Order: sequence, then structure tokens, then C-alpha cells
Amino acid sequence: MALIVQKYGGTSVGSVERIQAVAQRVYKTVQAGNSVVVVVSAMGKTTDGLVKLANDISKSPNRREMDMLLSTGEQVTIALLSMALQEIGQPAISLTGAQVGIVTEAEHTRARILHISTERLMGQINQGKVAVVAGFQGISNTTEIEITTLGRGGSDTSAVALAAALGADFCEIYTDVPGILTTDPRLVPEAQLMTEITCNEMLELASLGAKVLHPRAVEIARNYGVPLVVRSSWTDQPGTWVTSAKVQERALVDLELARPVDAVEFDVNQAKLSLLRVPDRPGVAARLFGEISEQNVDVDLIIQSIHEGNSNDIAFTVNTAILSRAEAVALAIAPALRHQANSDEAEVLVENNSAKVSISGAGMIGRPGVAAKMFATLAEARVNIQMISTSEVKVSCLVDQDDCDRAVSALCDAFEISATPVIPQISNSESPAVRGVALDMNQARLAIRQVPDQPGMAAKLFGLLAEYNISVDMIIQSQRCHLIDGVPRRDIAFTVARMDAENAQQKLKETAEQLGWGEVILDRAIAKVSIVGSGMVGQPGTAAKMFNALAENHINIQMITTSEIKVSCVVAENEGVKALQVIHDAFGLAGNEKFVVPS
Ligand code: ASP
Ligand code: MG
Repeated sequence: MALIVQKYGGTSVGSVERIQAVAQRVYKTVQAGNSVVVVVSAMGKTTDGLVKLANDISKSPNRREMDMLLSTGEQVTIALLSMALQEIGQPAISLTGAQVGIVTEAEHTRARILHISTERLMGQINQGKVAVVAGFQGISNTTEIEITTLGRGGSDTSAVALAAALGADFCEIYTDVPGILTTDPRLVPEAQLMTEITCNEMLELASLGAKVLHPRAVEIARNYGVPLVVRSSWTDQPGTWVTSAKVQERALVDLELARPVDAVEFDVNQAKLSLLRVPDRPGVAARLFGEISEQNVDVDLIIQSIHEGNSNDIAFTVNTAILSRAEAVALAIAPALRHQANSDEAEVLVENNSAKVSISGAGMIGRPGVAAKMFATLAEARVNIQMISTSEVKVSCLVDQDDCDRAVSALCDAFEISATPVIPQISNSESPAVRGVALDMNQARLAIRQVPDQPGMAAKLFGLLAEYNISVDMIIQSQRCHLIDGVPRRDIAFTVARMDAENAQQKLKETAEQLGWGEVILDRAIAKVSIVGSGMVGQPGTAAKMFNALAENHINIQMITTSEIKVSCVVAENEGVKALQVIHDAFGLAGNEKFVVPS
């Protein structure tokens, strides 16, 4: 007998018939000898409807009243589902967040869960009842108790937090898709269902999977080791398991981390290799990293910033132990990338005194200013950033080895956490190098030319964007340095959501003029393709394979950035879908089963 938390999303409870179907499934689960706590969303598009009503009355509705309003959606569903269960002879009781004791911060419309009381729930369960709990809502921890909501899509978070608090055996998320697919089936009909994915991979795939499973829920599952499965509420198929490594016992307080960053990591044995002024054409990265992987050299970070004229710079890091091998490969292929012998093209640059410091945490998704705070902290500690590489849930900076300790302790202070060295991950042969491929067509690229290469510049730039509430995704600082008016300068390129692009450009232009930075260039016609898989750690050649798939299809790579388990490339917008398809295919993820996409 197991204790199971089941969560049903809006579509799954969208009508009386569907609520009855859910009651049947719950009933069957109980009949099989399990105890069940059910968490439900509001029916269908109810929450959207309520938001619209509010907006019809006020341009900026009061957030407390908004919570009062939105929390009613789930309350309808819990009552109806309880009745449906009782109707088929299954004792059940509906409970609001307040009745359960789901205690949150007092932040209306975006509260985080702090603690969940389990007494009342356990009492009901022990009486043989199914407890039907309203998702997405809680009560504040203040003297005057307030109804709070967790932010859109918050029912997933409620379900996983309940599972953690109750020590449930697992949590099932029932939805209108069969599970997590290897990519978007609307773009790649050959996308396949994954049987499993790790929480870390799931977080990096946020742009692909966030609609199916909210990143906040994934973070709780990872931190508390809650086994999680995403399944279709229409079938009995097994769905996708979202797994986490064994975790240390953790107190059931502050269930959701209030901090955007939950780890500061460092690795002091990094060396950086740059190839400066290589041709900006398809196939260069493929060739370089292809040769490198043939020599069995494992590459860590890779970046390629925007081109200048018709040439690019590509930089990557390796463990110092294998630097000489990596350098030999780079020197060997450099001549082939030159138009003429003895030109200044394809210059190989080696810096072997580097350290990588990273911050990571799911809390940085959609929260502007986290990267900016990292850069500002490093600037204050007088640490110069040699290279920046980012992913959905991680920002890594390469710094001088001598600066590493200072950088780490400043970051730990700033983000109020303790540091962990990067534990060299042993590649898990069971996990595929690439689990899924995502395409993001909602980003635009901005670049600022000639930003002085001094501590504090990145902090200033991204701090400014954070002030205007603009979230930044990929950030890449060019390798090439120009001496202008006696000051070394580099370009910084990054991506933002398209809807923020003009605003960001405008704000940056003003600042650039004041500070004597160069031009601010905007390109909206870009697409970002990413591969994610924990199996790529210690498996040389994964990035090369991605670059190669693009090269074979004559798709030029405009930018590259990476984390340990992710590689992202920016390509031209009109090549985005093609890029997604060929990469998905190159990693053998395509299959024959077709998935029907609900509209
Ligand atoms: N009903 C809420 C929403 O639509 C919460 C949820 O369904 O997860 O955002
Ligand atoms: Mg949802």
C-alpha cells in the first residue's frame, strides 16, 4: 500500500464527464490498496476567465483581491470532485489550502510555499477518505490570515509540495499529453515520449517542458527527492518519470526556496582555449569540435559570440590535465581555417590559469537581475570576468585562478549559501547524451560593441536591464579585444524575450551613449536550439555532433553557449525549425509513434 498524491490539470477536470472520469481513476487507485490525496486545478480555462473579468474592471487589479478571485476556481473543482467520488461510493472530503494549512509567504499572486500541516490530511486519510485539495492556493503566515496564490500554473507546485510534506511514495501529474516528449511534436512529428528524465534535465528544458510541469514543482521534487511521474489522464500509459538523485534528509520548512540561487560551484582546474578570427560560415565549429572529440578530449564550456565582419571567435574550456592535447588539436586545424598562410586568421590563444565559478538554481528562471547580481558581486570583489556562459538555470563565469577564492566567498555572501566544488560527474552510461531538444523562437538578440574590459561593466549592463524588469537568457562576452582610446574593449551579446527587445535596446542606447560604449545592435530574426542530457558529461563529441548536424545542413551558427548538461546555439530564425529537426534526428531521438497534440 502506498500513499500517492495525484494532480489533475485544468483540461483533465474541464467538464462534468471529465470530473467523473477522474473520480473513477482515483477510485481505482484506492481499490488497488492505496491512500490518495488529490490536488486539482480550476476547470478548463476558468482562471483565464477570472483574470479577464478582473481586467475588465481594473487596469491594475489589487493583488489581494486578485487572489481572492482566482482562488475560487480551484474551490469549484474540489467540491465537484468530492461529490463525484461520494457518488460512486468513495468517501471523500474537499479542503481548501487554508483548511489543509498550506502556509505561504504573504506575497499576493506569487507566494512561495513555506510549510504544510499534515495533521488534518492524515486524519482524513486514516479514516479511509480521499482528500481533495485545492491547488495553487495557500494562506499567508501573517497574523491577519490572507488567501494567497502561487502564480499561474501553481497547482503542480502544490501537488509536489504536498507529496514532500506527507512523505508520499510518489506524485502523479495527470495532464492532456502522454508525458514529456523529446521535442515539440508540432514541429517534429517524430518526437518520442521519454520514459524518464532527471529533474536537472527537466529544468534545463524549461522552454520545452514548462507548460507540462512547472519548474518550481521540479525544484521541490529534486530538493526532497519526490518521485514524480507525468501521465495522460485519458489513457493508462506509464508516462514519463522525472527522477532525482538520492537526497539528504531536509527539514520540511521553507519548502520552496526563497532564494533564486541554490548553489555556488567552482572548479579551479580550467584552461581556456580560443580560436580568434575564424570564418563565419557553417562547419567551422563542427570541424573544430569534431577533431577534438576524436582525440577523446572532453570539452566543458563552449562559447561563440556574435561575428565581427565575417569572422568569429570560438572559445572553450577543458580540464588543465588535458590542455596540451586540446591545444595540439587546435594548432593542427588552425591552418586549414586560414585563407592565406601567415594571415592573422585562426589564431590560437591559451590561458591555463582559469577557474570556473557558477551559480545555479531554478529560481532564476524568469527572474531578472540574478546574473546582474552575480556580475556586480564579482565586480565589487575586483574580479574580472574572462568568459560568461549561461543556460536556463546556471550562469558560469571564467575568472583568474588567483581570484577564485575571493569570487566564491563573495558570491556565497551575496546569495547567502555555502559553496560546493564541482564534483566531477561520472558519466552515467544509462543516461543518453541527449535527452531532449528544444527550440525557442521567442528571443531576440542584442549586442553592444566595445564595452570596456573592466570589472563592473557586465554588472552595469545587466543591472540596468533588471531595473526595467527585463529577463536575459543567453549571455556571451566576445573573446576578441580591441584597444580603443587606450582601453581594451569587448563586445557583449545576449538574448531577451522578443517583447522586451525594443525597450531593452532603447534603454541600452541611452546608457551606451553616456558611457562611450559602441553601437547597440538588435536582431529579432533568431532562433535558439538546445540539446539537454546529463549523459553528455564525460562523453566527448556530443557538442560536435550537434554542430555537425547543423553544418551538414548548411546552417550557420551565430552564437554558442553551454552548461554541463546543455548546449545552445543561436541560428537564423528561418532555419530554426530545420535546425531542430536535424539535431533531433542526429541524436537518434526520432521514432514512429505519432502524438496527437491537443489544441
Ligand atoms: N488554475 C491556475 C492557473 O490556471 C493554477 C493551475 O492550474 O496550475 O494558472
Ligand atoms: Mg499546468
